[in-house]
Amino acid sequence: MKLDIINLLRCPSCDEADPEGKYELVGDYNQEKIFDGHITCRNGHSWQVRDEILRFHKESHPEVLYDKLEIDENRVNMLPDGLDEQYKRRFREGMLKFVEGLDEDIYAVTGLVVPFVKALGATDKLFLLFSENEDELRLAQEVVAKNRVYDNFFFVRHKGFALSPLTNITRISLFGEDEADTKLALAEEGNGDILASFGNLKMVRYSLKQ
Ligand SMILES: [Zn+2]
Repeated sequence: MKLDIINLLRCPSCDEADPEGKYELVGDYNQEKIFDGHITCRNGHSWQVRDEILRFHKESHPEVLYDKLEIDENRVNMLPDGLDEQYKRRFREGMLKFVEGLDEDIYAVTGLVVPFVKALGATDKLFLLFSENEDELRLAQEVVAKNRVYDNFFFVRHKGFALSPLTNITRISLFGEDEADTKLALAEEGNGDILASFGNLKMVRYSLKQ
């Protein structure tokens, strides 16, 4: 939709149309369209836009962009292959330690991107997320939109990194096989930093960049 058109709409929860038609926009939009996000009327009623569809059928809480059920919590809390459910809490703690250690302005990330953005929360850094799985990217979009940091992310559907050889942006691989500058892996022994322990397995951070 041309963005001005939304000001022609009446908020379904308001009795009268706002003559000034001012909506606050959050999420992913340009001059012409809202792709994903939400709009909030002057009286604080919020409505979700998803895949460019304005969902006027149901009000959403201003702080919650997406219906809870739409985020697949199993994938958000997804564990790397080889790790049991019983270690979920420790896995999350290890991920938190990992994201707290990020001190560069921009990163490229591949692997378990959904638990990653969940652990990241609000951030002022920039991230290029790579995944061959579109559902995973959509889930990551939902999480970062909910955290109101959508503009800090760029989503690329691609298996592994697709980066110009001219860039030396730090590449993070999360429990995958991709060549990267920083890797998180599960290992029994590790010469990297141990972030969490699960029985005889450990979450290990390897920094390979010189
Ligand atoms: Zn309203």
